[in-house]
Amino acid sequence: MSAAPRNVVIIGGGLSGLSAAFYVRKHYRAAGVEPHITVVERDRVLGGKIETLRKEGFVIEKGPDSYLARKQEMTDLAAELGVDRELTTTNPNAKKTYILQGGRLHPMPAGLVLGIPTELKPFWKSRIVSLPGKLRAMMDFVIPPRKSGEDESLGALVERRLGREVLEKMTEPLLAGIYAGDMHAISLQSTFPQFGEVERQYGSLIRGMTSGRKPAETHTGTKKSAFLTFRQGLQTLTSALVEDLKRDADLRTGSGAAAIVRNDGISAGSRYTVILENGERLPADDVYITVQNFAAAELLRPHVEVSALDAVNYVTVANVVMAFSGQELDGGFDGSGFLVPRTEGRGITACTWTSAKWLHTAPEDRVLLRCYVGRAGDEQKAMLPDGELEELVRKDLREVMGVTAKPLFTEITRLPKSMPQYPVGHPAGIAALRNELGTALPGVQVFGAGYDGIGMPDCIKHAKLAAQKAAEQLRQG
Ligand SMILES: Cc1cc2nc3c(=O)[nH]c(=O)nc-3n(C[C@H](O)[C@H](O)[C@H](O)COP(=O)(O)OP(=O)(O)OC[C@H]3O[C@@H](n4cnc5c(N)ncnc54)[C@H](O)[C@@H]3O)c2cc1C
Repeated sequence: MSAAPRNVVIIGGGLSGLSAAFYVRKHYRAAGVEPHITVVERDRVLGGKIETLRKEGFVIEKGPDSYLARKQEMTDLAAELGVDRELTTTNPNAKKTYILQGGRLHPMPAGLVLGIPTELKPFWKSRIVSLPGKLRAMMDFVIPPRKSGEDESLGALVERRLGREVLEKMTEPLLAGIYAGDMHAISLQSTFPQFGEVERQYGSLIRGMTSGRKPAETHTGTKKSAFLTFRQGLQTLTSALVEDLKRDADLRTGSGAAAIVRNDGISAGSRYTVILENGERLPADDVYITVQNFAAAELLRPHVEVSALDAVNYVTVANVVMAFSGQELDGGFDGSGFLVPRTEGRGITACTWTSAKWLHTAPEDRVLLRCYVGRAGDEQKAMLPDGELEELVRKDLREVMGVTAKPLFTEITRLPKSMPQYPVGHPAGIAALRNELGTALPGVQVFGAGYDGIGMPDCIKHAKLAAQKAAEQLRQG
């Protein structure tokens, strides 16, 4: 080990920042360098979007609620922290998902991937898309593929291949929960680049997806479940990270980073100074910026061109969780919930039947429902006052599901500017930014939900890659 510790400042204490701290410590040490890590979080608490509320026997997620099991990074980190035993799967008896169509709930046809039917029989039998809409989708077999590999919007691809009806009634509602976005504004390359490749390779999305379909994977020993979460909520992971890190990292909350200053000259001691909003100055050799793109842009604007950061719009959403007495809500929860296409003109964008999908989230005689409000082009509803927001949700639950019971309690979480919308051309823009950073501010890296993938495992993956890259450079001297 070298004598002087290397000062590392990590800006942002969400999952990206905390996992960066974890992997910086691990990989720098493996490279023979002892890091002195400071995590700077503007908020009073660490964890960012991840927040679990435990109340009256319920486990309520105020932000994300689960992750894709096939993305191994989250499970790996849980194992490294010793909390992987806490992982749990979805209820195998609640696999169905419904889509609202014409005011009624219809089961989503089996084999639907992003609205692409990978099993034709259930697609033809389903009543979600009209006959002309289905015939239009079959045009996918004959429409010549787009030759260019240049980025386009997700909506442009799906509409070109499968038609507007599939886009509006299947793809958009399916993705609303992940991006809350406008399908015609979101980058294909940043979200599902594989679909562009499938089109080029097979000349048809349906043909390509049908031949490439694999049974659900599992890496966890927790049986085949597409999603995983923690029995006591996702905060299990961030709390374990905090507990683990606080032994030897400096975790600061309540004051954000205001500026990064380059220290030129040999006597400077460290390459950079990170100035906090409370005036404190932190020396830094390496700086990891994991905050939202709009916040990162303010830190980097004096140094590099930040148009790729400014181009990422963030959508405001809210989730409204309602707890009910089981006796007052009459069963019927044979699935994980329902999705609401824009064309239905509802206030909510989706409703998860949380206590049916995740059995650990409610006491046996209780029901927990989680409704989502707000998407690109329709964000104002998410900021309605509590009473109005609750009424909007109850109206939709009444009209769609016939729920007239009064909730035992309601938990409202507003998440202003929380869903990054990767614009067309995003990967190239971010690559150019990173390139420029490499010369203008060596040792400063940017990553997090607004860059290479919004899912929690993606955030962990890129935090780990950033730490590994820096450690490799240290190893090479
Ligand atoms: C409603 C919702 C539901 C979601 N559901 C899922 C899901 O089910 N599964 C899934 O995989 N993903 C889901 N996601 C996405 C996932 O939650 C996020 O992508 C991930 O948690 C982001 O982590 P992060 O650390 O990159 O960013 P954040 O959690 O946003 O953390 C960034 C942190 O930086 C801090 N900060 C900002 N500016 C400064 C500054 N100048 N100085 C210091 N600190 C600053 C902020 O306070 C914040 O704590 C969901 C997201 C939302 C909003």
